[in-house]
Amino acid sequence: MQPLHQEQFASDNYSGACPEVLHALNETNQGYARAYGDDVYTKAAADGLRALFGVPCEVFFVFNGTAANSLALASLCQSYHSVVCHELSHIETDECGAPQFFSNGMKLLLSKEGDGKITPASITRLVTKRTDLHYPKPKVVSLTQSTETGMVYSLEELRAIKACAKTHGLKLHIDGARLANALASLHVSPKTFVEESGVDVLSFGGTKNGMFLGEAVVFFDKALAEDFEYRCKQAGQLASKMRYISAQWLGLLKDDVWLKNARHANAMAAYFSETVARIEGVKLLFPTQSNAVFIELDPKRIEKLAQEGWLFYTFIGTGGVRFVFSWDATKARVDALIETIKKG
Ligand SMILES: *Cc1c(COP(=O)(O)O)cnc(C)c1O
Repeated sequence: MQPLHQEQFASDNYSGACPEVLHALNETNQGYARAYGDDVYTKAAADGLRALFGVPCEVFFVFNGTAANSLALASLCQSYHSVVCHELSHIETDECGAPQFFSNGMKLLLSKEGDGKITPASITRLVTKRTDLHYPKPKVVSLTQSTETGMVYSLEELRAIKACAKTHGLKLHIDGARLANALASLHVSPKTFVEESGVDVLSFGGTKNGMFLGEAVVFFDKALAEDFEYRCKQAGQLASKMRYISAQWLGLLKDDVWLKNARHANAMAAYFSETVARIEGVKLLFPTQSNAVFIELDPKRIEKLAQEGWLFYTFIGTGGVRFVFSWDATKARVDALIETIKKG
C-alpha cells in the first residue's frame, strides 16, 4: 500500500499525526490501564485541558467532530428547540443530520448573510421571526471558530454575540474544530477566549491540529454536562481503550505543541495567500485569517492543478478552490503549488 506520494493541501485532515502525539502514545502504550476513560492518562488529559482553559469545566473525549457537535447540541436542546447557525456551518452542511438526529428533531435556523459568520442582527432576526408555539423554540447559537471560510471572529464580535444571546436567553455552542488556529491568529489565551465569548459548550478539535483522531467536548456551564457520559456511550463514542485518545492530548498540551502546530499552519497559509494573490487572474475569496485559503481560479487553471496531481476541494460556489495547511506543511511544497498555479 502506498500513501499519497506527496504532501497535499486539500484539508488539514490529510496530514498525519505530529511526533509529540506519537511520543505520548508510546509512553501510554505500556502495560495495563483501566478501560472506558477511568485511567490516569484520561484524568491527566482532562486536567490538562482544565489548566489550559483556566476556568472550571467538564471535559469529555470523543472520536470525531460530528459526534462532538451533535452530542454537545443534544445536551443543550430538547426535541422542540432550534439552533441558530450560519448556512455554511459544518453542523448544517457536513454532518448528515446528526445534530438533529441526536436531539430527536431539533431544527437549525440558518443565517444566510455574510461570509460564514453569524451576527447579532441575523440572530435577532431569526429568533424574533416567530414567537408562537407552532415553531421550534430558539435555544442555542452555534458558531464556528475559525469559520468554514477560514475567517476568525474577533473578541469584539464574540462579545456582541454573547450579549445578543443573553438578551434572547440563548446558550452558546462553539464548533472549535480549528480553534487552535483561531487562538493563534487572535494572539489570545484560551482563558481570555472562553471568558470573552461566554461559550457554554465547546467542541475542541484535536484531529486537524496534529492528533490522528479525537476531539474534546468541554462544558463551561457544568450543569449542562449532566449525564453526558451516557450520551457518549449510547452514541458509540465511548472508547474502551480511551487512553489512546486522551494520551494524544497530553502530547499536544505539553509545551504548547497545539499552539506551535497552529501557528505553523497559519504561517504557511499566510505565505501562500500573500504570494498567490499577486498572480494575475487569482482572486482571494475571503481574507486569510487562519490556515485555510480560498481562491477564485478560472476552470482551465483548476483543470491544470488536477492534472498535475494536486488534490483540493471546490465546494464553495463555482470557481472557488480551497487549500488548507497542516501542522507539517512545508514551504517547498507550498512553492510548488504556487508554481503550478502561476504556470496554469
Ligand atoms: C473537520 C470539521 C469538523 C469535524 O468533522 P469530523 O469529520 O466529524 O471529525 C467539525 N467542524 C468543522 C468546522 C470542521 O472543519
